[in-house]
Amino acid sequence: MRLTAGWLTRPATQAVCTALSAGGSKAYFVGGCVRNTIINAGVSDIDIATDARPEQVIEFAQSAGLKAIPTGIDHGTVTLVSGGIPHEVTTFRRDVKTDGRHAVVSFSTDIAEDAARRDFTMNALYATPEGTLIDPMNGLPDLQDRRVRFIGDAISRIREDYLRSLRYFRFHAWYGDPGNGMDSDALAAIAQEVDGLGRISRERIGAELLKLLAAPDPAASVAAMRATGVLAQVLPGANDTALGPLIYCEDQANTAPDAIRRLSALGGNHAGDALRLSRAQSARLTTLADNIGSTCDAAELGYRLGYDLAKDVMLLRSAVMGNPWASATDEQLKIGSKADFPVSAKDLMPEFSGPDLGRKLAELEGRWIASGFVATRSDLLAS
Ligand code: ATP
Ligand code: MG
Repeated sequence: MRLTAGWLTRPATQAVCTALSAGGSKAYFVGGCVRNTIINAGVSDIDIATDARPEQVIEFAQSAGLKAIPTGIDHGTVTLVSGGIPHEVTTFRRDVKTDGRHAVVSFSTDIAEDAARRDFTMNALYATPEGTLIDPMNGLPDLQDRRVRFIGDAISRIREDYLRSLRYFRFHAWYGDPGNGMDSDALAAIAQEVDGLGRISRERIGAELLKLLAAPDPAASVAAMRATGVLAQVLPGANDTALGPLIYCEDQANTAPDAIRRLSALGGNHAGDALRLSRAQSARLTTLADNIGSTCDAAELGYRLGYDLAKDVMLLRSAVMGNPWASATDEQLKIGSKADFPVSAKDLMPEFSGPDLGRKLAELEGRWIASGFVATRSDLLAS
């Protein structure tokens, strides 16, 4: 098979391959860029595998005038920036020692060894700079059948790195065939090794879970996470009953997937902290949780939270209540989010001051909202 893709032939990317081959080394595209090109999915980052050792990669890059950043040099990764685009170049390696979290690696010149240390057959696909596919683990049929399969024995591979259990669900959500079901051996291995996830940092778990939840339809993966005990392990207290309905509502409302909105549907105890989310992500989760059960209608939410956040709340409400998405909701959200309260503190001073001023403003605002945002400044001040 010969791959064709814009990223593959673009000069900036070819320049990286040329730099490595000018030094006498081999360069192969690998991982997501190859996998996604075959199935016509978008390619975001370019990973390159090489038999050159990391210090040689740096030397060859510099000779070719490319910027080299030793991003993960201990594990053999150097980022080469070409035409402003980062390319992650990693030396062929095998993992000599693993403890479920970190690996001690040894560099290799053998592509088959490099393939064997990767997680899933569909992630061990390589392509030459000309686009010729190299498939040491026979991953192509799995990819074409949309089957996520561990390379080697699932239990041993999970024990090397427990994050792979979560990666399994992530890749299934993105690339698995929802009609196929998941491999029962893999699920049994994940269930058996579920405690090991406790050894993985909350940041890594959080990042992985957000990638999973951003998939078009992660409901089947999350259901399998629940069934294997993974969901309770990574997010105690979570419940996935509203997730399927939420995805259905998103679809009806023509709204793009959003990992935080979906995470909110799962609930869970202090998710922001359990998953070490950013301050902004945690704040958004809190706002969503606080408003799902409130009595504010769509227009008021739109006014108070802005369109996007208010829409999230309304989608979550529909999902939790088991209601379909009503298209009129969108109009209400728009009206509220565009509304501007016509009264300011100045209008009430000096008659009101201190806490009285705040109370009076809130009262007038309440009246204005109740009027459907139509009461004017003079209506309100006269009232
Ligand atoms: P994406 O489109 O998300 O970038 P990707 O397949 O490129 O998908 P990365 O996380 O960028 O995923 O990893 C690049 C490659 O490195 C994977 O395709 C896989 O071959 C290998 N890899 C990454 N993480 C692991 C891991 N924990 N265990 C084994 N192999 C891994
Ligand atoms: Mg990648």
